[in-house]
Amino acid sequence: MSKLFKRTKILATIGPAVHSPKQIEDLIMAGVNGCRLNFSHGTSDERDQQIKWIREAAAKKGRSVAILQDLQGPKIRLGLIKDNHMDLKAGDELILDSALEEHDGGNIIPIQYNLAEKVKEGEPLYIFDGKIHTRVTEIVSKTAIKVQVENDGFIMSRKGLNLPDTDFGGDIITEKDMNDIAFGASRDFDYVALSFVQSAEDIEKLRQILLSHGSTAQIIAKIETKKAIESDQAMEEIVKATDGIMVARGDMAVEAGAEVVPIVQRKLIALCRQHAKICIVATQMMGSMTENPEPTRAEVSDVAGAVIQGADAVMLSDETANGKYPLETVQEMKKVILYTQNHSRVAHIAHDPTGHYANYDAIAHAVTSLAEEISADVIICQTATGATAASIAAQRPNLPIITVTSNARVAGQLALTYANSAFVRPYAENYGLDLAKELRDSGYLRQQDKGQLTTVIVSGHKSVLGGTDTIQIRTI
Ligand code: PEP
Repeated sequence: MSKLFKRTKILATIGPAVHSPKQIEDLIMAGVNGCRLNFSHGTSDERDQQIKWIREAAAKKGRSVAILQDLQGPKIRLGLIKDNHMDLKAGDELILDSALEEHDGGNIIPIQYNLAEKVKEGEPLYIFDGKIHTRVTEIVSKTAIKVQVENDGFIMSRKGLNLPDTDFGGDIITEKDMNDIAFGASRDFDYVALSFVQSAEDIEKLRQILLSHGSTAQIIAKIETKKAIESDQAMEEIVKATDGIMVARGDMAVEAGAEVVPIVQRKLIALCRQHAKICIVATQMMGSMTENPEPTRAEVSDVAGAVIQGADAVMLSDETANGKYPLETVQEMKKVILYTQNHSRVAHIAHDPTGHYANYDAIAHAVTSLAEEISADVIICQTATGATAASIAAQRPNLPIITVTSNARVAGQLALTYANSAFVRPYAENYGLDLAKELRDSGYLRQQDKGQLTTVIVSGHKSVLGGTDTIQIRTI
């Protein structure tokens, strides 16, 4: 069972390339554990259709599939450019004006956000994923700024802007995000991802907004600004404040330079494991499969690297949202994950015996060593809040964790957690042999397991956080 069970999860972005219930179902059956809805694009009607398809397919196939809402954040975009193309030469001057509705082909360009209140003269401003470098030369009016272009190239409608040195002063949740958060709360998403996080305060702010809408969605902080990665301490503060992070390598490379990405990725994965938070590695993992039916060797190595480093999940963006081969990409990614996990192991993190850990962390450490020492087939974890399951996952056991919970929300929120697979049933106190048999009889312990199955069961008796107190070894 453990060789066929993928411990690193796949999060796939849903977009125009996946436009039928059957396609969603196929992606889920191929190994997708979570679907990302990118709120930088699309309409509410499109979202509702996608949500319906995902939830129906997950229910039909009996899988927990998380839905992640990815907020646009202060990802400022150009408005519409005349004829959707404008050539630029080094030295050209552009005026970016948030009050302008229509571009007439001249050098005054509409943008979707008023930068005049945020930027300072001399700050860099990049357009079109960093393809065009410019610098702010003047604040022209209350709604417009002037920039000077530094290299030849072209721009198109709605391309994104990056302002790596601009301080948004804790004001990263836009009016559009506020509307999208309200929409998301009414659709009960499992995770909400916040773009361009600069500090732990941004997370606190989002948490308050979510709570004000009655939402208990978990927060995924997208790490992509210079400020968020300026020091190990800055990263750790964000990791502690959030429920998970996304290594948003696309914008991070534009904002801070591509060379920082591999080291920041390793540091973030380690920090997330240390604090039992979810870590998603994103962007260009299999980018060439947007056009081609096979990944490059470098992409295969990249996915394998994230698995070996111990990422909870790897993400697909354009590959599944707009690509020609969404299903093939998921199939290739799953093959790489399985081969890599079965021929390597994620290094253990040192157990801290100083009391820094809660009880369930110490139990998680013990459960993992025990299960690996006796070559158990599966860890079964009863959890009320998901904390014990997350803590065991942080140890990166080399076997699957079946999490038993009475809370469907907890199950959805573990869908992207390393090695976890959730079984939802009403609360009951049978967390021994009976439970192992119940899982087997319900087909949850995979069909191919005909022989003897060794399980390590971790449970509590109070069904509350901190109630975990029992480890059992049961063979069926
Ligand atoms: C990224 O920049 O890598 C990312 C995941 O964010 P987005 O796709 O929203 O630009």
